[in-house]
Amino acid sequence: MNNFAASTPAVPARVVDIIRKKRDGHELSPAEIERLIKGYTRGDIPDYQVSAWLMAGVLRGFTRPETAALTEVMLRSGEVLDLSEFSPKKVDKHSTGGVGDKTSLVLAPLVAAGGLLVPMISGRGLGHTGGTLDKLESIPGFNVHLSVAEFRSVLRACGCSMMGQTEEIAPADRKLYALRDVTGTVESPYLICASIMSKKLAEGIDALLLDVKTGCGAFMKSEEQAELLAELMVETGECMGKTVVALITNMDQPLGQKVGNALEVAEALEVMNGGGPSDLRHLCLELAAWMFVLGGACDSLPAARKTAGQMIDSGRALEKFREMVELQGGDPSVIDQPGKLPRSSRSLEVLSRAQGYVTAIACEAIGTACGVLGGGRERKEDAVDPSVGIVLHKKLGDRVSRNEPLSTVHYNSESRASRARQLIEESYQISDAPPAEPRPLVHRVIQGSGGN
Ligand code: URA
Repeated sequence: MNNFAASTPAVPARVVDIIRKKRDGHELSPAEIERLIKGYTRGDIPDYQVSAWLMAGVLRGFTRPETAALTEVMLRSGEVLDLSEFSPKKVDKHSTGGVGDKTSLVLAPLVAAGGLLVPMISGRGLGHTGGTLDKLESIPGFNVHLSVAEFRSVLRACGCSMMGQTEEIAPADRKLYALRDVTGTVESPYLICASIMSKKLAEGIDALLLDVKTGCGAFMKSEEQAELLAELMVETGECMGKTVVALITNMDQPLGQKVGNALEVAEALEVMNGGGPSDLRHLCLELAAWMFVLGGACDSLPAARKTAGQMIDSGRALEKFREMVELQGGDPSVIDQPGKLPRSSRSLEVLSRAQGYVTAIACEAIGTACGVLGGGRERKEDAVDPSVGIVLHKKLGDRVSRNEPLSTVHYNSESRASRARQLIEESYQISDAPPAEPRPLVHRVIQGSGGN
């Protein structure tokens, strides 16, 4: 990213001028972007000014040089880890955000069980999508607020560690992420690229797998938008000397059956125990296989798929997860007794009003329903309720009879449950004829010139 050293025009004196410049569709200089991001991270620029700038950016877009400058300044807002003392290759995976996407919970321990190091910096729920940190925190005691020293020590002990952005690592993304979540400013490929790549490049990894979601439950609804985002991130990673591959994957319906923090941990445990819904297991194995190949642990995808399956079938992935949970202060007894995870006080069934086939599920509405139940945030300061969520009994292509349950809603508040019920009822489309074949889970692979 040498372009940052390029000559920088004079910086406007006022933050409001930077906001107005973006509002009017002009390209910001690296110095202007630096001024805004550094000032915000330090606490000198308030949320309301940065919210306005973010919204202008979502509506006007950013150029590639702006995206590169934003990524760079966000990355440099904190420490870039040097993990060169560890001999295994350091590999990570990041998803652009989905509904029911709990693959990270399976992948970190699975890939570490296969001999690679997985230093994973994750995020919280964002918009209608769930976040790995919120899911992990539903395990009683699990600490995602590690210092760099603690992160290293967990990595050394078990080969994987999962934590959030901190004051030390990616602090700019930490603040911007929380602000974007509640200001309707997530859906920009440029902001998503900078957010993801600034965290991931701070991890000191050798290779990165990106799971770029597309479909009605993703931030990037169209294949073209998903491709643009994938290309931006692959290019950014390559400029920083990393091997980066992006898989464009399907988000036309929630992944697996469970949506909600503790429910998703339980479903990830099912997969690590050799069960779980087939779409979720399949995607976990496919992503793990790519991570094994990128990290040089396997020579080919077929061999890597086999290794990934063995890590689950032998119980090694589950044992690795147990080690990590213990090392990060979590209660490991939930692994054998998922019933000990937080549970909602009440549940209700959403029944089908028609008979036929499920031909569409408005996946974003399912994610929103989970947020409405309390599984996400409406304001930055909101606490997330780990126990609430939705279990889907019917997915695309399934036959359904009138009054048969489509889903079960787990809730703690009647008023929230009735809003969620309505969203879920409206999200199912039932038709007489079965739908066309669903799109495959993996649509495309995008790799840079240096990719394997
Ligand atoms: N994941 C992130 O870390 N950031 C985004 O902006 C979207 C998904």
